[in-house]
Amino acid sequence: MAHYLDHAASTPLRPLALEAMMPFLTSQFGNPSGAHRLARDANKALDESREAMAAFLGAQPGEVVFTGGGTEADNMAVFGTLEARPGRALVPGRAVCSAVEHHAVLEPVESVGGSIVSVDATGRIELDALADALGPDVGLVSVMLANNETGVIQPLADVAALVRELAPNALLHTDAVQAFSWIDVASVSSVADLVSISAHKFGGTQGVGALVIRRSAKLSARTIGGGQERGRRSGTQNVAGIVAMAAAAADMVANRQDEITRISGLRDRLLDGILSSVPGSIETSPRSAKTANIAHLCFEDIESESLLFLLERSEVYASAAASCSSGAMEPSHVLAAMGIPRALGFGSLRLSLGYTTTEADIEAALHAIPLAVRQLRESAEAYRG
Ligand code: PLP
Repeated sequence: MAHYLDHAASTPLRPLALEAMMPFLTSQFGNPSGAHRLARDANKALDESREAMAAFLGAQPGEVVFTGGGTEADNMAVFGTLEARPGRALVPGRAVCSAVEHHAVLEPVESVGGSIVSVDATGRIELDALADALGPDVGLVSVMLANNETGVIQPLADVAALVRELAPNALLHTDAVQAFSWIDVASVSSVADLVSISAHKFGGTQGVGALVIRRSAKLSARTIGGGQERGRRSGTQNVAGIVAMAAAAADMVANRQDEITRISGLRDRLLDGILSSVPGSIETSPRSAKTANIAHLCFEDIESESLLFLLERSEVYASAAASCSSGAMEPSHVLAAMGIPRALGFGSLRLSLGYTTTEADIEAALHAIPLAVRQLRESAEAYRG
């Protein structure tokens, strides 16, 4: 039996979302921009989904732009604000973001020569450093709500206050892709002009997301053509995916409070069990600073790649905050920014829980992880000896 502990990477489709999208994959296939009944039905479904998503995000329906996922929403926020294209900013307006942003924000900001702000050992943005980076020339500040590797939550209200005071011409964007399932984004993101989400992180399908663009914010379109999404994102909408996203969000929001309690209990049991049974295991940030669903650890003298391989053999699916660039494993930019020593960063493990996670998944991980770590250390010892 598979034990899926990688919900931060992608979640299984919620049954209610599948049910809601089925008609739009079969009989109700109309193009929402058309004029006949099938088209009008599709357009009505889009309108209803937009209204629902707006309510869940604390926005007006006209402020919700459907996108092809979180990466597109993030790119649209950065490049659209700066009226830029990758590699060159056309309009004055410097971009600023935290050092722990997802690559979907970090790379656009870096590509226009933006400023990257340091984080503390917990992974939270350093407000003094942010203040130093701000000024009247700044056009966009992007600080995520919760981090995808560690789950650490950023102090968005404090960030917003600084931006209003020191960078009055800037728009504030927050990437709420990982936060949405675990934080009431509607209440905390009102300080942001732009908010990104992605459906496959909360039980919708991959390749669908949304960007909230508040009425006050001006953005240039990155795709032009048919003028869909009020000219902000041309291209025929993925009606079935959008309907599924709204149904998934409704299901998620209705159960969010109960799930936070249930999942944080399971997450704590998982972490406590690993920390007490695996010598040389370190929790990378305090649980009070994080979303309920992510357990993030580093193991001394372990390589994540081998650990993941052994865990997979026990049907425990997890991931590591390390990526393979140019053939070599590298600790992630997030762990590096938090000042985690490189050697320790190689042994990172992210276990991310979600709505399908059961006690049996936790038990399986608690059995498999200590065993795998011991096995890897013993083989390294035998190799050295
Ligand atoms: N932002 C964050 C924080 C993420 O975790 C992810 C995906 O992992 C993205 C953006 C990109 O979203 P998508 O996979 O929908 O492109």
